[in-house]
Amino acid sequence: MKQIALASRPNGAPTPENFRLEELPIPTPGEGEVLVRVHYMSLDPYMRGRMDDSKSYAANIPVDGKMEGGSVGEIIASNADGFEVGEFVMGGFGWATHAAVPATGLAKVDPKTAPITYSLGVMGMPGFTGWLGLTEFGRPKSGETLVVAAATGPVGSMVGQVAKSMGLRVVGIAGGPDKCKMAVEQFGFDECLDHYAYDTASALRKDLKAACPKGIDIYFENVGGKVLEAVLPLMNLHGRIPICGMIAWYNGTSEVDNGLSGQQIWRHILVSSLSVNGFIISNFWNRLGDFHKAVGPMIAKGDIAVQEDITEGLENAPDAFIKLLTGGNTGKAMVKVI
Ligand code: NDP
Repeated sequence: MKQIALASRPNGAPTPENFRLEELPIPTPGEGEVLVRVHYMSLDPYMRGRMDDSKSYAANIPVDGKMEGGSVGEIIASNADGFEVGEFVMGGFGWATHAAVPATGLAKVDPKTAPITYSLGVMGMPGFTGWLGLTEFGRPKSGETLVVAAATGPVGSMVGQVAKSMGLRVVGIAGGPDKCKMAVEQFGFDECLDHYAYDTASALRKDLKAACPKGIDIYFENVGGKVLEAVLPLMNLHGRIPICGMIAWYNGTSEVDNGLSGQQIWRHILVSSLSVNGFIISNFWNRLGDFHKAVGPMIAKGDIAVQEDITEGLENAPDAFIKLLTGGNTGKAMVKVI
C-alpha cells in the first residue's frame, strides 16, 4: 500500500518537500476492525493547520506521521460484526490507499443512493458545515442580504444555495471570472465579485456596496483578509457573522497586516451590535441527521448544484492540496485513489 507522510513542517505555504510518499505492507485488520481500500480522499483547508505544531482545536500531525483526512472506500476484509466485504464506508483513513480501522465510528455509504464522493462534499463535512453555520449562527430571514467568499467551494456554495432557497439576496466573492460566472449561473447567486480584480479592500467595498444596496445582514466568514476588511463597515445593525474559516491567513504569510486594526474590528462589532460566532463543525455531529433531512431532498431533486474537483492518484495529493490553499481548485477538492 501507499501513504503520504508529513516529511517536515511548512514555513508559510506548504511545498512538495513537506510531504513524502511511502510504500508499506497492507495492514491486517484486528478484532473489531475492517480493512478498507480507499476510493476517494478529501482535501480540506483545515489540513494546513494540522501540519503546524501550534495549539489548535485538534491534535497536530507529528512529523513522519501519516497525513490525516476523511476518505470513502470499500471494505475488503472484515473482522467486525455488521460490516461486510464489498460495503462502502466513510471515515478518517488518512492520505493512504488502504487502512485497517475500528469499525466503530465508520459511516456506511450507499453507492445506490448517491455518488460516493458526495459523502466527502455536498452531503459530507463541508456541506454540513455550510448548512449548520448558516442556519444556526447566521439565523437567516427572507429578504436579508448575505455575503460569502470562496463562493464556489463546497462550504460557500452550500451557504449560498441554502440562503437563496430561504429568500435571501446572496452575493458571492470568488477568485476569477470563471468562478464568478459559476457562482451565478450554476449556484444561483444574485451577484459575484472577483476578489482578484481589486487591489484594495476599499475598492472591493465600493462594488460590494453597490451589490448590497440594503447593506449586509449576514457575512459568512470563510476567508478573512481583504474580504473581511471590505465587508465589516457594510454590516447592518444586528448583523451576524458565523466565523467558519480564514483561509487567507492559513499560510501565515499573506495579508497578515490588513487595514483594520483589532480596535477597529471591535468597534464595528460594537456599534453595529453584531453577533459573531466561531464554530467548529466536529462539535455538531449530533445535528448531521437534521442536515441530511433538510438538504438531502434538495440534492436529490437537483435543487442544490454540485461541483467537484477530482485529482487522479494519491501521489498527486500534495500538489492538489497546495493548489487548494490558493484557489487552484474549482469545487470540492478530492483525490481519486483507486
Ligand atoms: P474551498 O474548496 O472553497 O477552497 C478554499 C477556497 O478559498 C479557494 O478555492 C479560494 O477560492 C479561497 N481562497 C483561498 N485564499 C483566499 C484569499 N486569500 N482570499 C479569498 N479567498 C481565498 O474550501 P472549503 O469550502 O472546504 O472551505 C471553506 C472555508 O471553510 C475554509 O476557510 C475552511 O477552513 C472552512 N471550514 C471550516 C470548518 C469549521 O468547522 N469551522 C469546516 C470546514 C471548512 P477562490 O479562488 O474563489 O478565492
